[in-house]
Amino acid sequence: MCFMEADKGVVRHTFENLSRISGLVHGVFTRHGGVSAPPFASLNAAWNIGDSQDAVRENLLRIKTELGLKELVAGPQVHGDTIHVIDEDALSSAEERPPVRVTPPGDALMTQLRGVGLMIKVADCQAIFLVDPVRRVIANIHSGWRGSVCNLAAKTVRCMHDHYGCRPEDMLATIGPSLGPCCAEFKNYRKELPTAFWRYQVKADYFDFWAISRDQLIQAGLRDENIEAAGRCTVCETNHFFSYRGERTTGRLAAVVGWKS
Ligand SMILES: [Zn+2]
Repeated sequence: MCFMEADKGVVRHTFENLSRISGLVHGVFTRHGGVSAPPFASLNAAWNIGDSQDAVRENLLRIKTELGLKELVAGPQVHGDTIHVIDEDALSSAEERPPVRVTPPGDALMTQLRGVGLMIKVADCQAIFLVDPVRRVIANIHSGWRGSVCNLAAKTVRCMHDHYGCRPEDMLATIGPSLGPCCAEFKNYRKELPTAFWRYQVKADYFDFWAISRDQLIQAGLRDENIEAAGRCTVCETNHFFSYRGERTTGRLAAVVGWKS
């Protein structure tokens, strides 16, 4: 776990396991180094939450430049289980909204293309990166509690296998800064969460979704030692991260993974 700071002041959380893979760029960006005004200050990556469009455009340009990517791909996230495979066709048919290309709604993106950054936007939800260094395939998953309930992580692992022949035992995974067990209160958990999740209760009404994701990935065939969680709670660290629970009206953090051109 470390922070990397660039000239313009954008700061991102990077993961040790992914930093060892040649040709890969990645990071969960903090809220620092952008141009958005409060309550979106400052590196807000989301268009549709009331922030200035010019500010978001500049923020996304900084993110893209920092990672040295040719394309940045993102789409509306809907807490569902739709996975988009970004091949040449999907890339060229995505709507151009410089500096990004916008996919149809969905909550996971996958690609083998070089120079293409897959972006997920979060404020308490998990961004889960999956990387197969053997087949050179990556995925980025948006997983809030609904994503955990529908096990989008395992569905994406399966999709990487079915589409690209990836083997789960080769994959590396990361779980980004997100809602921690310290702050994940679910008063209505009996209605909202399946009974299989109840054993992840750390105290009355509080759940460990980092552990849930880790276990879902292990059950999907990944090795425990290949999974790295940031272990940083966005609600506890609103000085560094956007948090919906902590702030309500706020920005969205950019989580990006991509192969260099
Ligand atoms: Zn917390």
